[in-house]
Parts: sequence; structure tokens; C-alpha cells
Amino acid sequence: MNQQVIIFSDLDGTLLNHKNFSFEEILFFFKKISKKTIIIFNTSKTFSEVKKICSDYSLHNPFIVENGSAVFIPKKLKLILSKKLESQDEYYKLVLGSNLDDLIKFTNLRKCYRFISKCSFLHKMNTKKLKESTGLSNSILMNSTKRDFSLPFLWNGTKDLILEFSSFVQNYNFKILKGGRFYHLIGNVDKGKAMKEILGIYSNTFDKNFISISLGDSPNDVAMLEISDYSGIVKPFSNKKLKLKKNKNVFYSTIIAPKGWEQVLKMMPPIKKIN
Ligand SMILES: [Mg+2]
Repeated sequence: MNQQVIIFSDLDGTLLNHKNFSFEEILFFFKKISKKTIIIFNTSKTFSEVKKICSDYSLHNPFIVENGSAVFIPKKLKLILSKKLESQDEYYKLVLGSNLDDLIKFTNLRKCYRFISKCSFLHKMNTKKLKESTGLSNSILMNSTKRDFSLPFLWNGTKDLILEFSSFVQNYNFKILKGGRFYHLIGNVDKGKAMKEILGIYSNTFDKNFISISLGDSPNDVAMLEISDYSGIVKPFSNKKLKLKKNKNVFYSTIIAPKGWEQVLKMMPPIKKIN
């Protein structure tokens, strides 16, 4: 049977450099690989952010946003979908996470008050307050606050209380993710579950043997790194080494993004074959 490689890649710190958010340095390799494999971005970024990157680099593949909250599939691809999906722009949208309305409704529950009173939610701050508390520029703020499946917040309570809050939200099928500066209240999703959905769609559509590769640099990538055939860990800028339970076909780059992306892929037998 024909073999086809699918690469699921995180963006920030994995493909994109943590400082300039660019991967121009490895553009030649990226373009070459994108012609021979299917590259699927699997990121904490939002729909509008990922859509822009895909159009900038003429990539017409599905992608996964907000830590596995939703999968977007270009209508043009004519993939076989087992259920009827919503439509957004030129994509079909498969929602795996929780919509904003449900998240906000939850935060208004009386039972939540003792936790919520310690949260400063980004969607409730005015621009001045946002800039003061985040130190971010206007354009970055626009992108980091405009989320469809998660509520970012700053925490003003104790460490013990946030732990309690984290286990409390599980009763409602939500979870709390710790980002760099913010916490996120988000549906019970992860990048691995979303990756499985896309693999399922591809194997339903094509009579091919798919080999999955996942690439990541931080704890929110672990769920996909654990279940792919080949797993590549790009050296994190923070230097905190990621540990996986699986140990077969796991590769580590010795350099950070974007060069680490190229380096770790080149170590993998299915890429060596086609490169
Ligand atoms: Mg990352």
C-alpha cells in the first residue's frame, strides 16, 4: 500500500522562533517537506492567526486551533466527513471543545464565585488595564484576547486555590491550562484527541498507509507526542526537557526553533526516505 506521511506540528517554539515568530531560516526545507508530506498545524493559536499563516505560505491543509478545541478542514479538499459539520469561511469546522458562551455561563455560576472572584478575565478588561497587566502591544493583545474556545485570565489567588479550582472545573468537563502569562479556562480537549480526528478522516478518505509524525516543545504537546508513530521534540527555549512515556521513535533536537524543527525531522527514517 502507498505510504503517506502526515506531520502534526505545534507552532510557537516548535516551528516558529520564540522571539521573532518566524521560520524564514528553514523556509527552503519547509517548502520541500510540505510538497512531500501533509503538514497540519496543531497549536494554541486561534483560527484567524493560523488561517493567516497558512495563506502566507500557501498551505491548504486542515489545521487544529486552541489546544485541540477545533479542527478546520478546507472545503476544497473534499475529504470524507462522517458527520455534518458547521461552516466557517472556506472551511468546515469540527468543534471538540467548549464555546465561549458555555465557558462564560460557567463562570457566572454561584458555586464558582470563590474561584472566579480571584480571576481577572481578559475579556472583561479594558485596553488600558490589559496593557498595564500584560505589558503586551496592541497587535499581540488583539490576537491573544480574541479566542473562540477559551477564556484567558490572570490569577490573583493562592497556589492551593488554583489547584482546587482546576479539579473543580473537571466536574463540568472543562480544564485549566497554564500558558506563559495567563491561565486558560478551556473545554476538556487536548492536541492528541484532535490529531486522532484528522487521522481518522484521512484514513476514511484514502486507501493509503498513513505514518504520523508529531512535533512539539512543551507540556501541551505531550498528548499528541505520545500517540504518533514518530515524535520529535524541539529543544525548548526554557530548557525544561520534555519527558514522554513512550520511548520508541522519539527524537530530540539539540537546537531551538526554527532550526530545531528541521534538525529533528531529518533524524526520522520516514523523512530521510523522502528528503
Ligand atoms: Mg510550543
